[in-house]
Amino acid sequence: MNYNDTVTTDVLIIGGGPSGLAASIHLADIFKQKGQNRRILLVEKGSSIGSHILSGAVINPSVFKELLPETDFPEIPFNTKVTKDSTIFLTEKRAFPLPFHIPYMSNRGNYVASLGQICKYLAVKAEEKGVEIYTGFAVDEILYRDEKVIGAKTKDTGLDHLGNQLENFQAGTRIEARVTIFAEGTRGSLSKMLIRKYNLDKDRNEQVYSLGCKELWTVPQGNIMAGQVYHTMGYPLDNDEFGGGFIYGLTDNKVAVGLVVGLDYKDPTFDVHDAFQIWKTHPFVSRILKGGKLLQYGAKTLPEGGYYAIPKLFVDNALITGDSAGLVAMPALKGVHLAVRSGMLAARTIADALTNNDTSEKSLNQYETLIYNSAINKELYPVRNFRQGFSKGLIVGGLHFGTQLLTGGAGFFGRLKSHADSQTTLKLNELKKKPFKERFSGKLQFDKVLTFDKSTDVYHSGVYHDEQQVVHLQINDKEDFNSVNIEQYGAPEQFFCSSEVYELHTAKDGQKSLRIHAENCMHCKTCDIKSPGKGITWIVPNGGNGPDFQNM
Ligand SMILES: Cc1cc2nc3c(=O)[nH]c(=O)nc-3n(C[C@H](O)[C@H](O)[C@H](O)COP(=O)(O)OP(=O)(O)OC[C@H]3O[C@@H](n4cnc5c(N)ncnc54)[C@H](O)[C@@H]3O)c2cc1C
Repeated sequence: MNYNDTVTTDVLIIGGGPSGLAASIHLADIFKQKGQNRRILLVEKGSSIGSHILSGAVINPSVFKELLPETDFPEIPFNTKVTKDSTIFLTEKRAFPLPFHIPYMSNRGNYVASLGQICKYLAVKAEEKGVEIYTGFAVDEILYRDEKVIGAKTKDTGLDHLGNQLENFQAGTRIEARVTIFAEGTRGSLSKMLIRKYNLDKDRNEQVYSLGCKELWTVPQGNIMAGQVYHTMGYPLDNDEFGGGFIYGLTDNKVAVGLVVGLDYKDPTFDVHDAFQIWKTHPFVSRILKGGKLLQYGAKTLPEGGYYAIPKLFVDNALITGDSAGLVAMPALKGVHLAVRSGMLAARTIADALTNNDTSEKSLNQYETLIYNSAINKELYPVRNFRQGFSKGLIVGGLHFGTQLLTGGAGFFGRLKSHADSQTTLKLNELKKKPFKERFSGKLQFDKVLTFDKSTDVYHSGVYHDEQQVVHLQINDKEDFNSVNIEQYGAPEQFFCSSEVYELHTAKDGQKSLRIHAENCMHCKTCDIKSPGKGITWIVPNGGNGPDFQNM
C-alpha cells in the first residue's frame, strides 16, 4: 500500500483477529464459488498478525470445521485437546474443587491454544485465497460521504507530540470500500465512533467489560499435563468483585495463567495486575509454576455485557463483528468461536449485497437476521441476564443465575440493566472496605521469580511505541480530570492500568497531575472504559506500535 494514495476495494476489513480473518476467508471462498473477481483488503495495526492477539484460550473448535475444509482441520495449530477440566474454589490458603461443572462452563471437546498462533495460520490461508493483508497499519478515521461510510483511512505518521509534521511525515492512505467490516476486537476505537455517530446502542444495555492479565510460563515437566484446564473462583477477589483465574496446560511444558476481573468493581485503588500476582502466590497456583520461568506477559479487556448489550450491527456500507459487536459468551468466557461465526455471517451478507449491487443498510440488515438466527444467539440468549446479575456481588449473582437456569434465562425480574464500568467506581471517601493495598499488605513483594511488578511484566510483552507521535491516550477534559478523577477518586488509572502507563505526580507545591507513559501501553483499553468523570479516550497509535505478543 502506498502512502498518499486513495486505494479502492470491494471489502475493507479493519482488524486481523479471528472475526476479521474468518470474514476474509469466507468471502474469498464465496467469491470464488460465484466466479466473481473481487478485492478484499484486511488492515491490522499489529506489526504482524498475532502480535496484538491475546486470549486464554480454550477454544470451541466446531465453527472452524465450517470455515475451512475438513482436510485443513488437522493443520490448525490448536495446541492440544482438553483432557481434564475442573473449577476450583479458592480461600486464602485452601482449594476446593467443585464436584460439578458450572452450567455452560464444560470444556469437553474443546482445545487449549494460543489464539495468536491460530490467527497466523488463518492469515496464511486467507492470503492463499487472494486476500491482501497489510500489517503495521493503524486505521484511525472512518471516511463518510453523504453521511454514509465509504471506507477508512490509515493514520498519518511523522508527527510530533503536538501534531506538527516532521521531516518524515507521511499522510495515511484513504481506503475507499463498497463495504467496511469493523473487526477491531474489544472496545474498537473506530467501532466506538460508529456506534456513537449512528446511535447504534439505543435501547441496549451499557456494554461492560473485564480486564484479563495473562502470563505464559515454561515449567518443569510434571507440574501440569498438556490439556489440563483449571478455572478458579474466590481468592483473592471479594464478594463484590466478579472474576476468576485460569490455568491452561499446553504442550512442551508451557502453561498459560491469568486472572480476569470485571471492571465494574468499586474500589478506586483496585489493581487487576497486582491481584493476579497475589493469585499466583496461592499454593494451588504456585505449585504449578514452581521452578518455572515467565516467558510473556500481556493484558486485554473483553466485553461481557452479553445479549442485551449487542449494538445494532449494520449501517449503510458497514458491519460490526466479533468483540467489537460484544459477542462473548458468558459464563463460558468464550468469544473466539462467536467471532469466527460472526465474520462468516458478515461475509455471506456482503457477498449477497455485492451480487445484488445493494450495500445499503436495508440489504445489510440480513447480517443481523443471520446472527439472531444462528448458534450465536442460541448461546447468548439463555444467559442474557447472567453478567448483570453479578453486579450486586457473588451471592446475589449466584441466586440470580439459579433463577435464570430455571426460567430459560429470564430470571424472576426480566431484563436486568447494566451500568457503564466508568460509573461503578466509588470515590475515595465513599469506600467502606480496606483499599486494595491495605487488604493485601505484606503480600505484594514482587520477588521476580513467581511474582513481578508491572514494569518487569511490561518488559515481557515486547511493547514498543514511536516516541514522536501525538500521545494516543487523551484526557478528555483536563479541568474535570483534575477536580473529579484525581481529587475525588485518587486517579484510579495508576492502579487499574495493566502496564504502568499512568503515574500520579505531586509537584513541590502539592499540585497533582497525571503523567502518561504511553510507550508502555498494552492496548488493553481499560482506561477508555474505566476512567471516572469525563475520562480518557484511547486512540490508535502509529501502526506497528504496541505489544509484540508471541503465542498469546
Ligand atoms: C484474558 C482473555 C481470555 C480469553 N479467553 C478466551 C477463551 O479461553 N476462549 C475464547 O473463546 N475466548 C476467550 N477470550 C475472548 C476472545 O479472545 C475474543 O472474543 C476474540 O479474540 C475476539 O476476536 P475479534 O476478532 O473480535 O477481536 P481480536 O481478537 O481482539 O482481534 C482484533 C484485531 O484488530 C486489530 N485492530 C483493532 N483496532 C484496529 C485499528 N483501528 N486498525 C487496525 N487494526 C486494529 C487488533 O490489533 C487485533 O489484532 C478471552 C479474552 C481475554 C481478553
